[in-house]
Amino acid sequence: NSTIYVKDLQKVYPSPKGDVTAMKDVNVNVLENEFVCIVGPSGCGKSTLLRMIAGLDEATEGQIVIHDRDIMGPGADRGMVFQSYTLFPWMTVAENIKFGLKIKNMPPQEQDIIADKYLKIIKLEKFRDSYPKELSGGMKQRVAIARALANSPEVLLMDEPFSALDPQTRADMQLLMRQIWQEEKPTVIFVTHDIEEAVFLSSKIYVLTSRPGTVKKAVPVLLPGE
Ligand code: ADP
Ligand code: ADP
Repeated sequence: NSTIYVKDLQKVYPSPKGDVTAMKDVNVNVLENEFVCIVGPSGCGKSTLLRMIAGLDEATEGQIVIHDRDIMGPGADRGMVFQSYTLFPWMTVAENIKFGLKIKNMPPQEQDIIADKYLKIIKLEKFRDSYPKELSGGMKQRVAIARALANSPEVLLMDEPFSALDPQTRADMQLLMRQIWQEEKPTVIFVTHDIEEAVFLSSKIYVLTSRPGTVKKAVPVLLPGE
């Protein structure tokens, strides 16, 4: 009963010097409310896989299904958090969080209720009316997570979201992310090259391999529950 179902996915980047196979035969299943990590060395295709699930890149072969729908292009059903900060600099923290709700024409009072809920979850109530430039890197990523979750996406896609942060902030963010998952139970696909981060955050890990001469594929590793 998978929420997200990736079948026999292949991605080839055409190039004059010879095509680059970014991945082949990749199969991934994500259950509802599951926190799944995708790990593997640099260049193994993690970003490419996540971008295809996000609808930002097109698969060469294979299928991606979310809640029984074949995905076609990007959609509000998938929230995305990238490594670098993607907040709108001219909007306050609250305005950033409400952005997707405003697009959906949600009544302003309802937008405020949702923004306040997520401001509390990311512990930035006091920064409601601050601008991104007034925030630290970790705080900006917390706002990016809140903005993604505020839209109630079917899946939250995170591409190395903490990689640019210093070790202490990174550890704090991992703890916060685990709390958010325990409280809100979003379905998450989290890409990282840090195996410890993956083990800390998730109960199912896919390893994308990229050994020369082998096909690149995702291998699920199930971790014992706590
Ligand atoms: P990772 O996120 O695991 O570091 P990527 O998904 O970024 O890996 O890249 C996987 C492979 O595909 C790499 O060999 C990379 O060079 C190649 N690749 C990624 N994007 C492109 C592109 N737009 N054009 C050509 N090759 C690409
Ligand atoms: P990451 O390792 O964080 O995924 P990369 O440096 O692999 O980042 O890729 C950054 C961007 O460059 C991505 O949008 C990717 O698609 C693109 N890219 C990566 N490798 C190539 C390549 N060989 N040719 C063209 N674009 C590439």
